[in-house]
Amino acid sequence: MIVTKLTPQGFCGGVKYALHLLDKALENPTTPRPIYLMGNIIHNKTVMNEYKKKGVIVLNEGYNEDKALLIDSIKEGTIIFSAHGTDKRLIDRALNRGLNVINTVCPNVKIVHKKIMDHIKLGYDIIYIGTKRHPECEGVLSIDKNIHLVSNLADINDLIINNKNIYITNQTTLSLFDLAEYFKRLMEKYPEAIIDNKICTATTERQEAVYNQKPTDLCIIVGDKLSSNSNKLYKIALKSAKRAIFIETIKDLNPLDLKDASTISITSGASTPDYLVDEIINYLKAI
Ligand code: SF4
Repeated sequence: MIVTKLTPQGFCGGVKYALHLLDKALENPTTPRPIYLMGNIIHNKTVMNEYKKKGVIVLNEGYNEDKALLIDSIKEGTIIFSAHGTDKRLIDRALNRGLNVINTVCPNVKIVHKKIMDHIKLGYDIIYIGTKRHPECEGVLSIDKNIHLVSNLADINDLIINNKNIYITNQTTLSLFDLAEYFKRLMEKYPEAIIDNKICTATTERQEAVYNQKPTDLCIIVGDKLSSNSNKLYKIALKSAKRAIFIETIKDLNPLDLKDASTISITSGASTPDYLVDEIINYLKAI
């Protein structure tokens, strides 16, 4: 069995930055306690469980609670907002309650927010291509109620915009290949629009590595089911390898998946720690 670890893979710069800020807060005895996370700081259950064991309290894990009410229920301590970017009003709300606030938003997401705000000031209508209810998408939509969300191709037909100034941008972790089709259709409808592809470099490089790999019998994607970029890697792997599986940890690896697989490639999403991948590689090499 030949096992190839695709590169790059694993934690991106934005995830490393967010976890660094969280670790610093935990190590510092003067950080006001308790320490809360609003949602998952990154989309990986294994990592989140490790932080919970260290006493971190995760709010709104299922993304179905009212974040403002949750903030209002906190009396003291520190609240950490995730790498995906957060509604500024929630951050202000936490500050007004006297909470210690740590915002771990990824610099790439911050750029998207800024570009959108700049274009709104210039009188543009914004079309944002993103995944409904994903925290990054929710953070962007909170900037202005008039941002037009496109989360599937059918949404493009429903768009009615009477402004000739239109700025089109997107979530940082979408699929390069899907996005090209969205841009094409939008340009057919709004030929004068400005297109600004904001898929981040980390996502692009990981997707290209999967797409351009030498075809293997099996490609294993390691990542959390909630992770947008891991899901996109899986979709690409279905095209570039003979078979692909998407697992969260070695526990999900079914021996039947390895049947007839003499060449295996393995990669992981930007929120997957290296050791989860290494565990699988060591297991495959041992058999
Ligand atoms: Fe930032 Fe890209 Fe990582 Fe998201 S995937 S946290 S945008 S570097």
